[in-house]
Amino acid sequence: MTTLLDDLRAIVGAAHVLVDDGSDALLAYERDWRKRYRGHALCVVLPGSTDEAAAVVRRCAQEDGLSIVAQGGNTGLVGGGVPDASGRQVVLGTKRLRAVRRIDVDNQTITVEAGLALQEVQSAAADAGLLFPLSLASEGSCTIGGNLATNAGGTQVLRFGNARELCLGLEVVTAQGEVWSSLHGLRKDNTGYDLRDLFVGSEGTLGIVTAATLRLFPRPRAGVTAWATCRTLADAVTLMRRLRAAFDAELVGYEAMNAASLALVGRYFEALRAPLALTDAAGAPLWSVLIDLASPHEQAVLRERAEAALAASLDAGETVDVAVPANEAQSRALWQLREAIPLAQGVEGLNIKHDVGLPLSSLAAFVESADAALQAVVPGARHITFGHLGDGNLHYNLQAPAGGDAASFLARHEIAVNACVHDVVDRFGGTFSAEHGIGRLKRGEMALRKPAPAVAMMKAIKGALDPRGLLNPGVLLPD
Ligand SMILES: Cc1cc2nc3c(=O)[nH]c(=O)nc-3n(C[C@H](O)[C@H](O)[C@H](O)COP(=O)(O)OP(=O)(O)OC[C@H]3O[C@@H](n4cnc5c(N)ncnc54)[C@H](O)[C@@H]3O)c2cc1C
Repeated sequence: MTTLLDDLRAIVGAAHVLVDDGSDALLAYERDWRKRYRGHALCVVLPGSTDEAAAVVRRCAQEDGLSIVAQGGNTGLVGGGVPDASGRQVVLGTKRLRAVRRIDVDNQTITVEAGLALQEVQSAAADAGLLFPLSLASEGSCTIGGNLATNAGGTQVLRFGNARELCLGLEVVTAQGEVWSSLHGLRKDNTGYDLRDLFVGSEGTLGIVTAATLRLFPRPRAGVTAWATCRTLADAVTLMRRLRAAFDAELVGYEAMNAASLALVGRYFEALRAPLALTDAAGAPLWSVLIDLASPHEQAVLRERAEAALAASLDAGETVDVAVPANEAQSRALWQLREAIPLAQGVEGLNIKHDVGLPLSSLAAFVESADAALQAVVPGARHITFGHLGDGNLHYNLQAPAGGDAASFLARHEIAVNACVHDVVDRFGGTFSAEHGIGRLKRGEMALRKPAPAVAMMKAIKGALDPRGLLNPGVLLPD
């Protein structure tokens, strides 16, 4: 009788089944990006085709007590893509599923395999003269399969929607090891329940995404990036209202960063400097706002309109100062600054992250209330608040007080801090997970805060599609 490992080697080739050999060969698959979870995999299997992935699932399904964790780029922030410590989980990595299967210029779609890095999808679309607008700081490493499994957001959701809105069809290996495909590129298909939408955001718990058909867009002719500082977050929201009225769909990105988050970047990335002061003349911290405009019209016209709108915001007192970079390199540097915030936080040490979503109209009041409530829980903690303001999505993170020990800060305060922040989120009608998903990290919140009928329906769906619990148990759904 052959063993599981022999059979998996026969399916994908011996070189593509990785086992613990006493070295740290599996570490990259077993530890998450934030270094919060370190599991132990029975093995890592890297199928080279959808058929191989399906055969792996069928073979694993024959073993009692075994389960499968799908993994793309392992950049997830909630621990959903790494195995638990049981040694009874197979990591199914998608990094060999990398083909661009088709670009249909007339239909404005691209069909790619799940393991292609997001940046490679963007490049393939650009080579065809089109735009794939999903954009995250992790785009060099995260995969399109992971983006869909987490329904990733990023910096252009305001204009183009998140991964779900960009997906027209999927190819999925089911928990039974069958292949279901809807890679048709249809924009209209009302033939019953939308199965695609079930798999998007399911974090590897319902099926393994092996390919997807994605929407593409015309590449904008003109683009302007701008930076502004505001006294309050409420002012930043008002500025956004002004820009929306003036630019409508030409406003594609709107990010906000508090002074502490940019100061942290300054500490670790010397070359990345904010173009405007982080404090006002009296030393009070300012909010910085990064704005992206894109248009099918003339560059000079867009720039002129942008400068006029920002000048009006200065006159109205919504902004303290504004800057419009002179060229593309300077614009890119501003985005690098924004994208370096989570990296700087990582270097600074473990921190308590929140990925909250609120109606824009409540966002400023939420931050004020949560900041005040936390004073009683963790006095002195540093508030690193930044995010996709245009989507009402803030990364409301807490770092240990300056000079404090990050690991013990996290261990001591995480539960109380989460309860405090998420209670305020609930009070303002928001969500405790706007774009990162649930993973292992937020299952407790799911049990506490997601309405019971919603959890019951999700469990029913899971039970129907994966009755044996083969796919990513311990993730997303509460026990
Ligand atoms: C610096 C940094 C910045 C980030 N910025 C953003 C941001 O702006 N917006 C945002 O939304 N996220 C962001 N993230 C989080 C992360 O990059 C996204 O969640 C991304 O979509 C994960 O893709 P991945 O390929 O790395 O997935 P992984 O981390 O490998 O997996 C994530 C989840 O998806 C499942 N999964 C992976 N591939 C498949 C598949 N083929 N089929 C089924 N399930 C699968 C896994 O089981 C796991 O549950 C950021 C992360 C970092 C490190």
